[in-house]
Amino acid sequence: MSRDKLEENRKMVRSITLSIMDLVKQRMDLVKQIGEIKQRLGLDVIDKHAEDELRENVIEFSKSKGLDTNFALRLLSILVDESRKIQSKSIKNGVTPTQIFTKAKELEEQGRKIIHLEVGEPDLDPPNIVKEAVIEAIDKKRYRYTEPAGIRELRDAIKKHLNLEHNNIMITPGGRFGIYLAISLLNEGEEVIVIDPSWPAYKDCAKLANVNTRVIRTDLDNNWNVDIEELHNAINDNTKMLILNYPNNPTGKILDDNTIRSIVEIAKDNNLLILSDEVYSYYSFKEFTSIKDYDVDYILISSFSKAYSMTGFRVGFAASNNPNIIKRMVKHQAVALTSVAEPMQYAALKALNEDHHIYAKIMRERLAFLAKRLEDMNLSFYKPDGGMYIFARVNKDGFDAQEFAYKMLEEGLAITPGTAFGDYKNYLRISACNDINVLEEGLNILERFVR
Ligand code: PLP
Repeated sequence: MSRDKLEENRKMVRSITLSIMDLVKQRMDLVKQIGEIKQRLGLDVIDKHAEDELRENVIEFSKSKGLDTNFALRLLSILVDESRKIQSKSIKNGVTPTQIFTKAKELEEQGRKIIHLEVGEPDLDPPNIVKEAVIEAIDKKRYRYTEPAGIRELRDAIKKHLNLEHNNIMITPGGRFGIYLAISLLNEGEEVIVIDPSWPAYKDCAKLANVNTRVIRTDLDNNWNVDIEELHNAINDNTKMLILNYPNNPTGKILDDNTIRSIVEIAKDNNLLILSDEVYSYYSFKEFTSIKDYDVDYILISSFSKAYSMTGFRVGFAASNNPNIIKRMVKHQAVALTSVAEPMQYAALKALNEDHHIYAKIMRERLAFLAKRLEDMNLSFYKPDGGMYIFARVNKDGFDAQEFAYKMLEEGLAITPGTAFGDYKNYLRISACNDINVLEEGLNILERFVR
């Protein structure tokens, strides 16, 4: 008897599951149609209002049916994420800086001369002492696996360098991997808030980890400030992390202390972890306060790449006031790559003795030069508080930055279109990672076409 009942129930569960799948298919077909309409009307894929309304409906419905609301929201999150993916496919994707770089390289292989104002790495040499340290490390046979968190000397030196009171530090192969590890701490279907314009890797890492991204847009007309109310409204039960990146790539903005304090309060009230990407902090032209100096749960990401012009050494680090977070990230790193190359960790250790301000001074002079020329071209932009770029707006209706960037490549100039960083069709990111003579040559080409 009970066996018969078991079989009967199983049959019903199977049939209900297939009905759910059928409904999901019907939902996806409709979502695709909505995506096509949005594209025709020039609307964004993400419609926060529609998503919030649906969420409220689901909460109400699950409560009335006695269904676990958290579970219902997780299911909804998977559906919404899939819908965004389906709709994004029908919309022209933003080109990445790497795609522009690859296309530029192709043209160079055909013998064309390209000026690279799209690159995100300083052209200057790392300090000599750093280069020598690699050879010294090899001579001393320091070319073995290390602890997954990195060699103790380097972690201690970073602790001192950052003035940290705790030991929760790990060495990562560049800041990028630290960001990937941090975002991977989140569970599938949870949400991370990204402030646009943003370095594309945040959204890419979230996608890889099946974590949803909720975007807060900032604008030049508001000096790239964060609207605190908008941030507050973007948070829901699924939101677990907020990413900050100041000095910002691409805008060069540093948020003021009051704004950061308001953000910190919101994060604390909502149990959000702040992931603060501070790789450009060494290129700050006004006061910059690290997230470690605020009273909030954080993961701080930094790197030797920009600070000491050591991009190819692939050494960065992550620190958190929560030891469990670093433990989990180290565990993941150990599985993925054992440890960062030992000679490079010793090189990074030497770098910490060097003065990084010389790099910042050069970059600042170049940015001033860029700013002057871009002003003469009637482009609008925020004068960078830090970083290595200017994010300039071309004040022409219907301007298509992506098309323009490809056209510029044909003219011998590589620049990154604003669409790489979010919905910024009128913007171009111009990098100061070249000698002033090269910058001038590139800007001469740009000027002929934006005027
Ligand atoms: N964060 C930002 C904002 C960046 O622009 C970059 C590199 O361009 C990185 C992190 C990562 O740099 P790396 O992995 O070389 O440390």
